[in-house]
Amino acid sequence: MKKRVLITGAAGFLGSHLCDRFIKEGYNVIGMDNLITGDLQNIEHLFSLPSFEFYHHDVTKFVHVSGKLDYILHFASPASPIDYLKIPIQTLKVGAMGTHNLLGLAKEKGARMLIASTSEVYGDPAVHPQTEDYWGNVNPVGPRGVYDEAKRYQEAITMAYHTYHGLATRIIRIFNTYGPRMRLNDGRVLPAFIGQALRGEDLTIFGDGSQTRSFCFVDDLVEGIYRLLLSDYAGPVNIGNPSEITIAQFAEEIIALTGTNQKVIYKPLPKDDPKQRQPDITLARQLLGWEPKVSRQEGLKITYEYFKSLSHEQLFKKEHKDFEGYIK
Ligand code: UDP
Repeated sequence: MKKRVLITGAAGFLGSHLCDRFIKEGYNVIGMDNLITGDLQNIEHLFSLPSFEFYHHDVTKFVHVSGKLDYILHFASPASPIDYLKIPIQTLKVGAMGTHNLLGLAKEKGARMLIASTSEVYGDPAVHPQTEDYWGNVNPVGPRGVYDEAKRYQEAITMAYHTYHGLATRIIRIFNTYGPRMRLNDGRVLPAFIGQALRGEDLTIFGDGSQTRSFCFVDDLVEGIYRLLLSDYAGPVNIGNPSEITIAQFAEEIIALTGTNQKVIYKPLPKDDPKQRQPDITLARQLLGWEPKVSRQEGLKITYEYFKSLSHEQLFKKEHKDFEGYIK
């Protein structure tokens, strides 16, 4: 009997890669998405497969799935700072009410539930690199609070279901991840820089570019998620690539990769933008025998090829022109 997995946010960047992986592993996959930030193009290659079903549904409403379920992976959420500024209430609801609905479903079905948490639970971290036992430095009422606090609540309610209902749960804290199927115009730094290079625009560095991030290629992340799901560890686990870089250095790498003649220009740093971020992955190494395998050089090349393959219309589609005020 094939195992059956529900993946929420299935039409998004990470969700679609997870659908691919679970189908490859021989599971029956139900993909669920309300298509607010997801795109059916990311999963259209799966629609003809008997092992794939798609439900167009918003998980903040009661979630019903008939038949058995072995696993639930909750990846539905806006995930770019500009997205959650644009739809703050939905961001809070999908992390809070969506998670609650899915935990209820997991309990009903006796399914194991894995939630996508985030390095944002550490806020602008005072501990570096970030270990799972650091409680974070989040501004609850700042612009990023709607995402950060939704994810913190999500961790709390998931742990409560584990403790009080004995539900099998897994919590992954995802650090910056990139790869094919990111939305070119989602506002995040990698698609922003590559999109600017492809359109012949200057690359916009927010602040002085000294802030750091650590970028993980999507295939490595998916491997970490797969291993964590099948492990027996209920506490939060960081999955990310510890290779840390400043945003200014990152802009230089994108300029070299794309061969653009454009220059960098500086814009104001968004409020509460974390100054540094790097995962400590000691726990993932010990528990899961996991570590990233794809170098930034390799991963960026693959991602650049993907962005180059997009249509002219996709390249010039402006999703967020009304939200440029966010960086002022
Ligand atoms: N950033 C930038 N230029 C852009 C978009 C983002 O310099 O066009 C910066 C942003 O201020 C942050 C970093 O790049 O310091 C990563 O931003 P992103 O939105 O990708 O994700 P975050 O890690 O902040 O959630």
